[in-house]
Amino acid sequence: MGLFKKKYCDFCGEKIGSFNKGKKFRDGELCCECSQELSDNWHDTIRYDLSDAVKHIEERKKNIDVLKNEFHPTAYYGFRPTLFVDENNKLFCITLGGARESYGNVERYVNENCDLFSFSQLDDTMISVNDSGIHTLTVSIKNHPWATKLVFKDRIASNYEDMLVVDSQLRRIIYTEK
Ligand SMILES: [Zn+2]
Repeated sequence: MGLFKKKYCDFCGEKIGSFNKGKKFRDGELCCECSQELSDNWHDTIRYDLSDAVKHIEERKKNIDVLKNEFHPTAYYGFRPTLFVDENNKLFCITLGGARESYGNVERYVNENCDLFSFSQLDDTMISVNDSGIHTLTVSIKNHPWATKLVFKDRIASNYEDMLVVDSQLRRIIYTEK
């Protein structure tokens, strides 16, 4: 019976359940744990091969090096998610956690290995609200190796009544309170 054919993670070989939430690729799939090595902002993995995932992990190592050594935030905005901006180097990243949370001496954005973007990679932003009042912020990204959009749900919370707005015209990021 092919219907319930057992599947295994192509990285670590762990058995994968039928409701695996790990990333799927053209030629295989990964378990949840191995998928955590990949960026959350890589949405269309199904159009790529596992060999691209290996390259991606190498790129992510460079990302964390820049975060550690060349990214010096001059401002941060919002709370879960928190937007960190380095105005001098014109770079930004968005962490899921709060600005003041860190792990020992390790900055939150380093710990999360947040994807770094330059201001020029900002394309557009859109905020929508569904019937239950849940806000979704979608930030479109261009000219980046894997990210095409950043999507934040819930966390821009209706309960905080604050929103992050990326102003693509002015190439800067502003924080507004409703
Ligand atoms: Zn795995």
